Amino acid sequence: MILSKIERARNILQRSRRLCILTGAGLSAPSGIPTFRGVGGLWKQRGLLSYAFPEAFASDPQGCLEVYERARQQMNACDPNNGHRAICALRERHDIDLFTQNVDGLHARVGDDAKEIHGSMHALRCMDPLCHHRIPLAHGTPIETVHCPQCGSRLRHDVVLFGEPVRHMDEMREALIYADAVLLVGTSGLVTDTRTIAREMREREKPVIEINPAWLTRATWWTTLSIRESAHLALPALAA
Ligand SMILES: [Zn+2]
Repeated sequence: MILSKIERARNILQRSRRLCILTGAGLSAPSGIPTFRGVGGLWKQRGLLSYAFPEAFASDPQGCLEVYERARQQMNACDPNNGHRAICALRERHDIDLFTQNVDGLHARVGDDAKEIHGSMHALRCMDPLCHHRIPLAHGTPIETVHCPQCGSRLRHDVVLFGEPVRHMDEMREALIYADAVLLVGTSGLVTDTRTIAREMREREKPVIEINPAWLTRATWWTTLSIRESAHLALPALAA
């Protein structure tokens, strides 16, 4: 009997109690979230790319805040999709360590708790490196202050900029050690090194499932199973 890829992935999940899931732009694209690097990406809009470096924030903090706030308002108009909801549903059967490259906050909008390795558009952060106070922004609510209530320095959006370290990497490494299986969802592997993640998991004889409509990503060579489907369609089928 030939099993479909979804059935094979379900079989893997049935044998896996603890999952490590990494999500990328491909999960949020069906929600209408523009990707930062893709065609028509956010970085290409209104010169946003020039605001993607810490130096820009230092020289023009108000301009940067306004540009990012416009992008955040675009994101506020987008809703989570069935892929986000399916990951929540998987939590009923699995212990899940969820990490996301997405800064759109859509996991939180379905009540899920994702570690945002590239930060968040829905929080502000103090620009003083000794303070770094973080202020969550309610969904849809405009910014009320541009100065840190702790130290008075300027605030910027919490998104990780080019040249800055990504976050939660120690937690991800630990999660990968304890995971029974890994799901790589909608990520090309160009930013986070999914090839190394997948290779190390396979060396430990742990399955790696990739969900991505692209025919090849940096992780594909090392995956146990590559489901060539958009995450908002494949994940609900997996969680059903
Ligand atoms: Zn501060």
